[in-house]
Amino acid sequence: MFVDSHCHLSFPGLIERTDAILADMAAAGVGRALTICTTLEEFDTVHGLALRHANLWATAGVHPDNEGVAEPDVATLVDLAGRERVLAVGETGLDYYRLGGRSVEAMAWQRERFRIHIRAARAAGKPLVIHTRSASADTLAILNEEQAAEAGGVFHCFTETAEVARAALDLGFMISFSGILTFKNADDLRAIARFVPLDRCLIETDSPYLAPAPHRGKLNTPAWVPHVATELARVKALSVRAVADATSANFDRLFRPDVSRQRDQVL
Ligand SMILES: [Zn+2]
Ligand SMILES: [Zn+2]
Repeated sequence: MFVDSHCHLSFPGLIERTDAILADMAAAGVGRALTICTTLEEFDTVHGLALRHANLWATAGVHPDNEGVAEPDVATLVDLAGRERVLAVGETGLDYYRLGGRSVEAMAWQRERFRIHIRAARAAGKPLVIHTRSASADTLAILNEEQAAEAGGVFHCFTETAEVARAALDLGFMISFSGILTFKNADDLRAIARFVPLDRCLIETDSPYLAPAPHRGKLNTPAWVPHVATELARVKALSVRAVADATSANFDRLFRPDVSRQRDQVL
């Protein structure tokens, strides 16, 4: 059975289709999924999915791209991260890809938001789900300064360089591969996937985005995470079964869904 370690089942296009998505997951051998929070406003919807469905779990965090939304503080994130079936803090990190004409210096608010998430993860004893795009040097520097290794976590939808992958591994983080691994022009990423130890790899869809080949451009769902596993297996010259088993075990070791509080406790 496969685990999708990162998807957005609360997003428009997916939230209306929860039952069909769960049925498609079951048919594809995708046993579980972690649905990721990107704003505080969205948390109740994300969390509700995890409370209602035994094979879904949630996170708590505010995505670096989201502006004009409620700004989280440490206490709020610690509270949300401690709720039942919430496994991680994030997604959080830095994204300098869409600066909208601003300088990197002007993104201090993003860096401060990131630090708050790391402090919350350490206080809550939960791992971090890291999003980094065009900002890897600052991401790694802040992770080090804030002692994020204590919380651990994953660099999700990895598209950075081999050097960044090595730095993330040195920090004790896992690396998650998305459907980008199946794209024709992703040879550099496949080279990275070859050297990341199997016991540090996760797989994800980042649904509804980044549908893997041969479904590129369509609305992605967790049912397509086996395409990512199949490509990772090909790149590493392993069986798909070995990749499915290892990435599921890695998910359990990092996120510990077994010890998250049970769904029939207080709603
Ligand atoms: Zn992301
Ligand atoms: Zn995401």
